[in-house]
Amino acid sequence: MSRLSSSDRRRGRGLVFVLLSLVLVALGFGLWGALRLGPAPAIVIEVDRPAVGRSAKVTATFTEPGRGLGAVRLELVQGTHTIVLGEKSFARAGSFSPLRGAATAEASVEATIGRATQEWLSEGEAVLRATADRMSGPLRTAAPVVVEKRVAVRLRPPRLELLSRQHYVRQGGAGAVVFRVGDTAVRSGVRAGGFESVSFPLPGAAAGERFALFAIPWELADGRDIRVFAEDDAGNRAEASFVDLFKPMPAKSDTIEVSDAFLEKVVPPIVAQTPELDPAGTLLDQYVRINSDLRAKILARVTAMAATTEPRFLWSGPFLQMANTEKRANFAETRSYTYQGRVVDRQTHLGLDLASNARAAVPAANAGRVLFAGWLGIYGNAVILDHGYGLLSLYGHLSAVSVGEGERVARGATVGNSGATGLAGGDHLHLEIFVQGKSVDPVEWLDAHWITDNIASKLPVTMTP
Ligand SMILES: [Zn+2]
Repeated sequence: MSRLSSSDRRRGRGLVFVLLSLVLVALGFGLWGALRLGPAPAIVIEVDRPAVGRSAKVTATFTEPGRGLGAVRLELVQGTHTIVLGEKSFARAGSFSPLRGAATAEASVEATIGRATQEWLSEGEAVLRATADRMSGPLRTAAPVVVEKRVAVRLRPPRLELLSRQHYVRQGGAGAVVFRVGDTAVRSGVRAGGFESVSFPLPGAAAGERFALFAIPWELADGRDIRVFAEDDAGNRAEASFVDLFKPMPAKSDTIEVSDAFLEKVVPPIVAQTPELDPAGTLLDQYVRINSDLRAKILARVTAMAATTEPRFLWSGPFLQMANTEKRANFAETRSYTYQGRVVDRQTHLGLDLASNARAAVPAANAGRVLFAGWLGIYGNAVILDHGYGLLSLYGHLSAVSVGEGERVARGATVGNSGATGLAGGDHLHLEIFVQGKSVDPVEWLDAHWITDNIASKLPVTMTP
């Protein structure tokens, strides 16, 4: 039996103390892990409409960047109905940082709610309830985090009453309609096929009385598909038919022979003015790109400009046709373009071509504000006037422009001189009229009787210039 020296005993006690401390630390960590609560997850519920009607999109976003998410759930509750719209669960992270693995810090649940998906929904209120489990150790359970959002459920469409009468319209034409909407309406106007013309408050009338200057697209052959509409913020929509007579447009077509001389004349100036245009291929290839792609791009630009229209009548009196002009091409004429006997393109001509002497003065068809003045692709040098409430006139192929953007012009004032810039064979004026960004037949607007019967009889606009 050996005797331990006092220094050996001291060393032994030291070792026991260290081991004991380690055990205590481990126990402490274990207890801490078993009792520890993770941070509370944050929950945000968003609905894409202020109120729920037929259909709305809901997104619940859950975040817990500390220890990660466990399980999440989104429910819809109304009266005795509770349904789970979506739920997800994630692999749990360990208690200690090094064992955490891939914790899920953020997750979202998306769902569609509304009468279309939950036919038991009734007018009133419903609750969206989002639940997220809280991370906790085996010795302690924490209540989940619950966030609720109340949403209004509205199923009745806004009130919609027709006030004007005698609506005779033509395919490719325009018109005016007056109606009254209930106070829940946030959007109203005229739908013609897939094309919508929005309404404006009727000047000088009671609240809720509105009107629309509307376009009947030249592509719309079915006159039964034209309606006034009113929509609320829940997407509930009322529609009513109002057209008394619809006249289809007889098909018109023309063939345009594209010669090398024409290509050499029109293509290089347009390419030079259009840096974004692909200059590859022959003159004919470039011409076809200009006639199709550039044409579509320019029309989209005009539609965007139409949205900046002034909400008032800037015009009065009949629209003027340029003096001593002969009509060279009709509205909505389908043109086949042929090159050396084969058809290379087909487009629809959406204006009126008027020819007089070369470089003749071009008058403003009516009073308005200059929305655009300058180079406009296929139209060459062009001027666009805003006459208010979405009514625009465009003057194309000008040799000279004599007004500037933002300027007010009087009815008959010279906006420029005729020419052959852009896609034009010879000197002429291309006059185009847009209603809410859609080309309509200018012949109607150049006819004082038509304006009196269809526009001025319904709206507070005067036929005295
Ligand atoms: Zn033209």
